[in-house]
Amino acid sequence: MKVAMIGTGYVGLVSGACFADLGHHVICVDTDAAKIEKLHRAEIPIYEPGLEDIVARNVEAGRLSFTTDAASAVPSCDAIFICVGTPPREDGDADLSYVYAAAQGIAAHLEGYTVIVDKSTVPVGTGDEVEAIVRKQNPEADFDVASNPEFLREGNAIDDFMQPDRIVIGTNAARAKEVMQALYRPLMLAETPIVHTSRATAEITKYAANAFLAMKVTFINEIADICERVGADVQDVSRGIGLDSRIGTKFLQAGAGFGGSCFPKDTLALTGTARKVGRPTQIVEAVMAANAERKRRMAEKVIAACGDSIEGKTIGVLGVTFKPNTDDMRDAPSLDILPLLQQAGAHIRAYDPEGMGQARKHLKDIEWADDAYGVMPGADALLILTEWNEFRVLDLDRVRRELKAPLMIDLRNIYTPAEMARAGFEYHSVGRETVRPGGLKK
Ligand code: NAD
Repeated sequence: MKVAMIGTGYVGLVSGACFADLGHHVICVDTDAAKIEKLHRAEIPIYEPGLEDIVARNVEAGRLSFTTDAASAVPSCDAIFICVGTPPREDGDADLSYVYAAAQGIAAHLEGYTVIVDKSTVPVGTGDEVEAIVRKQNPEADFDVASNPEFLREGNAIDDFMQPDRIVIGTNAARAKEVMQALYRPLMLAETPIVHTSRATAEITKYAANAFLAMKVTFINEIADICERVGADVQDVSRGIGLDSRIGTKFLQAGAGFGGSCFPKDTLALTGTARKVGRPTQIVEAVMAANAERKRRMAEKVIAACGDSIEGKTIGVLGVTFKPNTDDMRDAPSLDILPLLQQAGAHIRAYDPEGMGQARKHLKDIEWADDAYGVMPGADALLILTEWNEFRVLDLDRVRRELKAPLMIDLRNIYTPAEMARAGFEYHSVGRETVRPGGLKK
């Protein structure tokens, strides 16, 4: 089948490359000429494990190409996926201007029956508006608009696309359903569950999924705070509740608060929709407020661990991206926590394996190191903000020697209190007892 992806970012490029790998002919379109130029030079504009290979393989096979010209990509496609950004506006609602511009760009060039598929995360009713835009601009066009929200996670995007827990297809049009089923046929053969819904149901399903996951993360963060006060271990609590199949083990890792390109903006957009329809969601509003508060609390936790003052102190920071295996800095907790530490007088020396290019645009006055150990010499404390694998296997003897004092604040719980006490550290983590060399802290 012939497919166009409008928007070649994290979602458009990954899903475009994966559709090509499933045997379809895919053209990825983006208005960002520099991004398309990079892809023509076989450079991948984002960091996503496995993406480079899959792109190279499918370009080589002649199934995947890139352009800035929607007019040349759109004609005779079976499906055109809208994968542009839907960032929050000032008022919190999703900014749909990119989606509508994409619809306008598609309309005039449609040829033959085409399914326009919204893969961007959009509020209920956006599909109707896309349909109206295309219909108005090209009344003769033969098309349907479907919703097919994307659930991939950055850092695990290829596997998530190729082995999804489910695929949600929102359309009541029989022809559109047939095209969507043919596109996803290889995954259906692998017994991926397909949830067929109306367009509006598919649209809200995506928001409900993200709000629920954000709630799970926030819930365990609050439990972690209680654990710290009562001398319990949140990791054991997570396991103790997560093994209950009604709850599930995933998204129960206590940490520094959720961030990233989806949860913050999608919870915000959902609360906006809920208020507009006169049914405000108390739970999701509370989740957002608790998460904002959490990042302030994490900064306070670092300051408290440093003896209630970080004035003039150097904090070595490992990780600035919102999670490992991505270079995405959108709404990363580091963007709140590090400036708060700077305001309290700290000097920040940081390292991230993939995020520093993006981070430099958003974080000011940071001394960037070339590797993990580069943040440590003479630092008053080591702060772990992202759980990249390479930070899980630090040479702890060397870390202790490099730091001015053996003080580690691990906001991702990648070490255990017992091993850190044995290694001679004062070790603060999330939802677990603080330890100091050889024993427990009073
Ligand atoms: P992104 O910012 O990485 O990519 C969007 C791309 O669209 C950019 O390259 C931009 O230049 C391009 N673009 C904008 N207008 C265009 C137009 N008219 N024509 C062609 N290209 C255009 O965004 P993303 O992270 O890929 O997210 C896209 C959508 O998918 C969002 O709605 C997001 O909420 C949703 N989503 C994202 C993820 C994720 O993990 N990033 C996961 C699931 C869903």
